[in-house]
Amino acid sequence: MAIPLLDLQTQHQSIREEIDAAVSEVFVSQQFIGGAKVEALERALAQYAGVPHAVGVASGTDALLLLLKAAGAGPGTEVITTPFTFFATAGAIFNAGARPVFVDIEPETYNIDAAQIEARMTGRTRAIIPVHLFGQCADMDPILDLAKRHDVVVIEDAAQAIGARYKGRPACSMGHAGALSFFPSKNLGGAGDGGMVVTRDAALEAGVRLLRNHGASRTYFHDIVGTNSRLDALQAAVLLVKLRHLDQWSEARRANAAYYDEKFADVPEVVTPFVSPDCHHVYNQYVIRVPERERARALFAERGIGCAVYYPRSLHRQQCFLELGYPEDAFPHSNAACDDVLALPVFPELTREQQDEVIRAVKDHLSAL
Ligand SMILES: *Cc1c(COP(=O)(O)O)cnc(C)c1O
Repeated sequence: MAIPLLDLQTQHQSIREEIDAAVSEVFVSQQFIGGAKVEALERALAQYAGVPHAVGVASGTDALLLLLKAAGAGPGTEVITTPFTFFATAGAIFNAGARPVFVDIEPETYNIDAAQIEARMTGRTRAIIPVHLFGQCADMDPILDLAKRHDVVVIEDAAQAIGARYKGRPACSMGHAGALSFFPSKNLGGAGDGGMVVTRDAALEAGVRLLRNHGASRTYFHDIVGTNSRLDALQAAVLLVKLRHLDQWSEARRANAAYYDEKFADVPEVVTPFVSPDCHHVYNQYVIRVPERERARALFAERGIGCAVYYPRSLHRQQCFLELGYPEDAFPHSNAACDDVLALPVFPELTREQQDEVIRAVKDHLSAL
């Protein structure tokens, strides 16, 4: 029996009537851009993170880009982030006109190593973007402390981490602002692209609101040059429904992760996710390290079991960033993770029988080595 990496069809069946009703409401209203649904989602997600402001935008990528622009990270400035993340984090820095500056990861959590950040800061550093990778928050306290001392902005890339907590504080509530993505495979996934800026900083909120609507504070009166980056009412309607189920889905992901942890506990070749005692992990991905990862992938493919590699190449080694001048071995922990990591199915609707099949495949891979 095939096991997908993520089973959105099963999830949809469980909420189909609610979604149909919400979508139908939008069609009846014919209010597709902005309006009550978008405003309701903004309020709901600000409240979810425990901060006063949220602004819907067209994608998680745009949430990062518009935040960077609103924070003044443009030409002549630098923004520090991790090289082990989805491309968008660094792509947004580049597209804002700033220079991406990479800092290696902690090998256990895969998140930026806060202890190495200060050495990379210069007079041009404008912002730091910690990424809460796979659903676990970066070690925020030392980062926030550094940012305060150097007067730089902290933007949390929480695209994979809605609902995650650090020392009890929700993702997106710790830095100056956070970026969420509603790409369908995220823990709160829409019916297409979408994103949200969540912030406690009124100036950043105002800046992003202006930028997402061509810099117009009044219709046809433009203070700055922005862009068209709005969240559709249809997306907001779908997301409002799914938000009601999010915590329960996160709990199911955590229970599935705990089951894998338990079953792999006596398999020393498998490195299971390290969860910091400070963190409440929401497992957008359950990522293990295995020897001979590519052979494991081949076995999974043969058995019709979904798996994926996030990410196969560190960003400092991407063709487009070679011009930044980093040597290939500049970030050894990021490079090593790229070689070993393997994401297993952990979606909320996954059954124990399916998990047993995944576990069997991992063990069969190891015994064939
Ligand atoms: C998905 C993702 C993004 C980008 O979000 P989109 O909505 O796809 O633009 C940014 N950063 C990280 C870490 C992501 O996983």
